[in-house]
Amino acid sequence: MAVQESPTLDAARTVRQEKRAPEPAATEVAPGVIRLQLTIALPGLGHVNCYAIEDERGIALVDPGLPGRKPWLELVRRLHEAGMPIERVHTVIITHSHPDHFGAAGHIRRVTGAEIITHANFKTFFDPAEEDDEHKELADPADLDGWAAAKERALKAGRAAGREVVGRGRQQVRQWQRWNGTAPWGGPHPHPPRKAQYTYAVQQLTGLGYFKPPKPSSRVIDGQVIMLGGREWISVHTPGHTVDHLCLLDPTTGAFISGDHVLPTITPHISGLVQADDPLRLYFDSLERLHEFSGVTTVLPAHGLAFDDLHQRCRDIQHHHLERLDLLRTAGADLGEASVASYSERLFKPAVWGPMADSETYAHLEHLVRLGEARRRDIPGEGLYYRLLD
Ligand SMILES: [Zn+2]
Ligand SMILES: [Zn+2]
Repeated sequence: MAVQESPTLDAARTVRQEKRAPEPAATEVAPGVIRLQLTIALPGLGHVNCYAIEDERGIALVDPGLPGRKPWLELVRRLHEAGMPIERVHTVIITHSHPDHFGAAGHIRRVTGAEIITHANFKTFFDPAEEDDEHKELADPADLDGWAAAKERALKAGRAAGREVVGRGRQQVRQWQRWNGTAPWGGPHPHPPRKAQYTYAVQQLTGLGYFKPPKPSSRVIDGQVIMLGGREWISVHTPGHTVDHLCLLDPTTGAFISGDHVLPTITPHISGLVQADDPLRLYFDSLERLHEFSGVTTVLPAHGLAFDDLHQRCRDIQHHHLERLDLLRTAGADLGEASVASYSERLFKPAVWGPMADSETYAHLEHLVRLGEARRRDIPGEGLYYRLLD
């Protein structure tokens, strides 16, 4: 989700491939990998690629699309048309914790019992802030027996369920406060449309409808083997766009599922809200890291079409961010000490001004602070102000 257009490519007046409406046909884009383009309508994005990989047990899906009834019906229909009924899905792999990637995963698990595989850091904004240890204790009634014990067990289960609902409610309230509150730099916090916030909240609190926050059944770290389509794929942890971003490499065929880490013509959003000291540094490192892989023949992104030159695309994206840092240096010379929003207006076109653009600008400014090139000052009531140093 959430990708900003690259100004270096603004000259291209054609609709970018990531923004185009989904192609109706299921297409084999690498040996044994079928691409289904699913509809989404997010800034700069017209579809998300769901990759289906079949084996003798059934089907694994990478990034099954947005939550909700309409996306669900589309996913089921598209799989059916491709001769892959949803009932056969045994595994869902989520590249990262953005709703256009994880949205349908929880509901698939509810319907088919599919495994959900994510990176170890995977966490959505629906997950509780901390584990409820008391609840865990009550979940194991193995030592209780007989009628009185059964009654006690039922009461405890009821109380535990009640606490779980209250816990989810509290988490929901915290999330609402965050979305509708102030961002760390002082401006409005990026948030989904109000209607989507409401729908997700109702469905996650009641457990009804087509959305269920996904609970991973398996969390992987960098360099682990995942069997997909009868072949060994390697998990590649690529933090930056999110801290839990996961790519998948098939060394046998050279296919590389890149999620939102590397996209063909737009640059992934680098959010200053990522829980990391310097998200842009993290992202640079994760781009750099891909140069280790020399055998990649086909890059399969989460948005847009497959492409072949992974290393060149990594260099282009890095170049784009280096240009942005230069733009900030230039802006700093005449802005003096200024807010994130003021810098943001120098980086982005008016059409995309707002919390998302501010968040990316914030990440870049914080990177300059870490480089010793900028100084941050917190002005009470106003937010963070940055001055570029000579
Ligand atoms: Zn994303
Ligand atoms: Zn995305």
